[in-house]
Amino acid sequence: MTFQNTLEFAQQLDAKDSLSKYRNEFHYPQVAGKEVIYFTGNSLGLQPKRTQKYVDEVMKDWRELAVEGHFYAEKPWWDYHERLANGLAKVVGAKPGEISVMNTLTVNLHLLMVSFYRPTQKRFKILCEEKAFPSDQYMLQSQVRFHGFDPKDAIVEVKKRKGEHFWRKEDILQKIEETGDELALVLIGGVNYYNGQVFDMGTITKAGKAAGALVGWDLAHAAGNVALKLHDWDVDFAAWCSYKYMNSGPGNASGIFVHEQHLGKKNLPRFEGWWGTKKETRFLMEPEFDPIDTADAWQLSNPPILSLAPYLASLELFDEVGMEALIQKQQRIVSYLEFVLHEIDKAVASSFEIITPNERGCQLSVFLHGEGRALFDHLMKNGVITDWREPNVIRLAPAPFYCSFTDMYRFGQILKSGILNK
Ligand SMILES: *Cc1c(COP(=O)(O)O)cnc(C)c1O
Repeated sequence: MTFQNTLEFAQQLDAKDSLSKYRNEFHYPQVAGKEVIYFTGNSLGLQPKRTQKYVDEVMKDWRELAVEGHFYAEKPWWDYHERLANGLAKVVGAKPGEISVMNTLTVNLHLLMVSFYRPTQKRFKILCEEKAFPSDQYMLQSQVRFHGFDPKDAIVEVKKRKGEHFWRKEDILQKIEETGDELALVLIGGVNYYNGQVFDMGTITKAGKAAGALVGWDLAHAAGNVALKLHDWDVDFAAWCSYKYMNSGPGNASGIFVHEQHLGKKNLPRFEGWWGTKKETRFLMEPEFDPIDTADAWQLSNPPILSLAPYLASLELFDEVGMEALIQKQQRIVSYLEFVLHEIDKAVASSFEIITPNERGCQLSVFLHGEGRALFDHLMKNGVITDWREPNVIRLAPAPFYCSFTDMYRFGQILKSGILNK
């Protein structure tokens, strides 16, 4: 399809968009009495309107039933978290038993490392991408030191080539092969938070396992954004947060995936708590841990129901729409945004540089050469919420649930006036 940078054309795209009605399912911040153009769903997704009902329901059950709510609430609390497994399994391409929801992302990565980073004197290295998200770097470094190794020896970073803004798959595969039988674990962010690059998770997982390593993925920017087939790819484990593309609210609970082949094992090293032991015998309060046959074996505590309620509300939306339709719209809206950026670039004779490679999901990261903080302020003042990284990188993630093609057009006009009128 040939795009046009006109309001009329953008409105036509919206009219043909089967997801356009989902705009009404979300609350928008307002600037000067108008709904904002929201590009930061990769950081914190908007609040679905139905979330309030789910939270109110828990508040009501607590108010009226108190402790009895564990078993007699409309959605009983003792197995409330299990309600999320089916929906999440569809989002990440897993079997429901491979999913659990608990804690927060960095916490879960640490817990999963307990089981899946078991270094020996010979096989102790972890392969990751250079400049991984800081929390992941701290997590990996502290795990390595905890096991008595030096991060300088144990952490192998795959670098981008000089002058390039993305990682080459062949460089990752080469590094895996090079590290060979010293490689204990491959752990990469499935979608890079900075440049928006989507890694070929299937191929990289296969290569890591062929080298005799285990393979895990941090899916913070991937869950609810790109197509995932964790089970079929034979991924060992993964974790993600739910407040980015999954719209579950600030700091909310994290999902984990543990491949079926690791489930139901009593002797697998794991930090354990009472919510991971079999439900049938849990309340006998016996001293011996008997792991649940699912990824719930990694659960420690009875879960925060008030946090899970918004996650459940959000998953209901994902279930209704399905990842396929979301990804279809996402590809179209990101392509349209790319087109609009090129058009504005030409119109202002500037030099935008999109650093996101073609392997992408929802996000375009753009260098706005010659521009600075004043442009960002102009965007914010005109109701465009974006993420600005000094000196002049802007990250734009038009989440398909609640962004429209008209938003992309309007954004282009606001961007243009900001550059021309400085
Ligand atoms: C957002 C993000 C995190 C955040 O971790 P929390 O534990 O939820 O604070 C971690 N890693 C990556 C790659 C992220 O994108």
